[in-house]
Amino acid sequence: MIESLVVDLWYQVEEQTVVMVRYGELFLKSEPVKRHFIGLLIRNIRRSLDAEGLSFRYETPRGRILIYGEEPLKIASEVSRIFGVVDVSVATITGNTPKELMNAAGTLGRNNLKAGMRFAIRAKRQKGTGGPDSQELGRVIGGVLLDDQPAAIVDLRHPTYEVFVEARENGGFVYDHRLTAPGGLPFGTQGNALGLISAGIDSPVASWMMMKRGCGMVHLNMDAGKWAGGATADGAVENHRRLSLWVKGFPLRMLVVDSSPLYDAMSRGFPQRYICVICKRFMFRVAEKLMAGEHAQVIVTGENLGQVASQTLSNLAVISSAVSVPVIRPLVTYDKGEIVTVARRIGTFNQNPGDLCCRAVPAMPSTGANLAEVIAAEEKIDIDLLIAGATERIRVFTALNGEITIHDKPE
Ligand code: ATP
Ligand code: MG
Repeated sequence: MIESLVVDLWYQVEEQTVVMVRYGELFLKSEPVKRHFIGLLIRNIRRSLDAEGLSFRYETPRGRILIYGEEPLKIASEVSRIFGVVDVSVATITGNTPKELMNAAGTLGRNNLKAGMRFAIRAKRQKGTGGPDSQELGRVIGGVLLDDQPAAIVDLRHPTYEVFVEARENGGFVYDHRLTAPGGLPFGTQGNALGLISAGIDSPVASWMMMKRGCGMVHLNMDAGKWAGGATADGAVENHRRLSLWVKGFPLRMLVVDSSPLYDAMSRGFPQRYICVICKRFMFRVAEKLMAGEHAQVIVTGENLGQVASQTLSNLAVISSAVSVPVIRPLVTYDKGEIVTVARRIGTFNQNPGDLCCRAVPAMPSTGANLAEVIAAEEKIDIDLLIAGATERIRVFTALNGEITIHDKPE
């Protein structure tokens, strides 16, 4: 009794506001795995808030992370970009009696519920707390809001305004916003992948999707020099930089390799129709060579089924056969419009990307490459030597919290 009194008093006097973090899929894990994943999730939250200079402390009651700090709105906004988090609310902490919950919900209603708005109270009462059941609690609190704003309309099916009320053993939480976070798994729980990244729209989305599932990414970009449009090199760096904003506090590496000698070699007496497929096979082989040094287990690309000539099913098979490591193509079944929607949401979409045109693309690229012919064409230009040359000098672009630093990779 004394204990619960102390807790209530402490909540009311010390801390009125908390950032309530919900995580989703971790629930499916066994206890030890869950504990490990939550530990990494908290590490990632800490890195991100430290990067923004936001001081905080936290608690981990069942199924939640509660974060206390002086700037709850900023904390909530940062945490809503952390992989593994499903949603985030800034909640008022009260006692768990109906009266206290009513008061807190009433304050939110007075500030935000306007005439004509359709609203709902979503009340949940944990077992073991006294008072009316969840449904009755919701009804009573709805009545309080209606008393203050009689021109509002209760609509439990399609409300435009919702107040969430939770009566828990140690206190109550009341809030009216849920910031949607990316979901997925905590960054760093699934090992590393090497992501082929370009200045385009697709590859940063593919990389983001892997990070969302907990993968550490190392990016690899081929700089085609004069064979690429003028905005290409900067565009790839910009995609890489923007992705680093999703893993604040963690340095994200991008290896950049000069691929222009490949296009020089393919420009003379070469079966032009195979240029695109061989370009991709070259990228895959360079990636395969660099993977071990980056502790990466798979290659990731933004390739898609049927988007361009090199992406027919048979060409994708010929491209994959260049390497013996697994290749993951998260976007293979997505329509372009669907990819653009994600790119906009995650902040990698560039409305005016500038000239990204590849000068090496032939007029009629093959849509059904013959593997034996492809291998014969590669031998003609001594592709092994070109791959060895490309991996001799590598520049590393490290992005940390959206800031880039560049250095040469030591041999
Ligand atoms: P994106 O697919 O990212 O929009 P894109 O359309 O320029 O780029 P595609 O020809 O569709 O490139 O290439 C398919 C995939 O190959 C890309 O999603 C990316 O993973 C990889 N890729 C293409 N160009 C490069 C490059 N210059 N460096 C590294 N990887 C690349
Ligand atoms: Mg593409």
